[in-house]
Amino acid sequence: MPDAPAPNPSLTPQPGTLYVVATPIGNLADLTERARALLGAVDLVACEDTRTTGGLLTRFGLRRELISYHDHNETSAAEHIATLIAAGKSVALVSDAGTPAISDPGFRLVRACRRRGLPVVPVPGACAVAAVLSASGLPTNGFLFAGFLIAKTSARVAFLQKYRDFEFTLALYESCHRIEKFADEIVATLGPDRVICFAREVTKLHETWLVGRAADVRDRLLKGSLKGEFVVLIAPADFTV
Ligand code: SAM
Repeated sequence: MPDAPAPNPSLTPQPGTLYVVATPIGNLADLTERARALLGAVDLVACEDTRTTGGLLTRFGLRRELISYHDHNETSAAEHIATLIAAGKSVALVSDAGTPAISDPGFRLVRACRRRGLPVVPVPGACAVAAVLSASGLPTNGFLFAGFLIAKTSARVAFLQKYRDFEFTLALYESCHRIEKFADEIVATLGPDRVICFAREVTKLHETWLVGRAADVRDRLLKGSLKGEFVVLIAPADFTV
């Protein structure tokens, strides 16, 4: 009989450790084996929305104690959870989708743990900006990820003007409620020929890619559905498709 393979220690949570665990951005098959093992074995899962994360765990046949950690309680919850970790608990931090702390709650908890010298371990997986950059065909030798721009038009136009001649690709998250207006602002501020990418509902049923001249992307955007989640990329000024 061949020896059974040794258990993989990276799949077993260590006491007193924070795991920053990425979850799928649409396609549930994108939950990694390591994420699944750790989510099923940590003492606590800190999550944005207990219903969303409870549903995800149920889909994978897992049950864990959940603790709420979201935009509105982030500061106090971070200290509380860091204290539990300091006392020896293993905690997995997740957000509703994708990688925690990337335009999502997480930064304060990670910082609270680092300040106390507690181990923080990433469990990488889906992240919308990385997925879109990787498959866009726009330059990826460098990029500036600016997350969500604030809603005010003047601030958004000022951002585009500031980075008009930036040497790397710009990457942004945008709400579907502002996506049409944002396309107009890009065309008006950077010109109709700027190469851009609007990626919608990536890894989901209605995944859609619009890549090309800003004016053409805007026209195609208006002909399709404006619902769902979008990542926007803007290529450097000298880039052509
Ligand atoms: N932490 C997440 C990550 O790692 O990508 C991002 C969370 S942020 C609150 C949500 C935004 O990410 C959406 O408004 C959208 O801009 C982008 N996003 C998330 N999932 C997406 C998807 N499947 N397709 C396109 N964009 C997505």
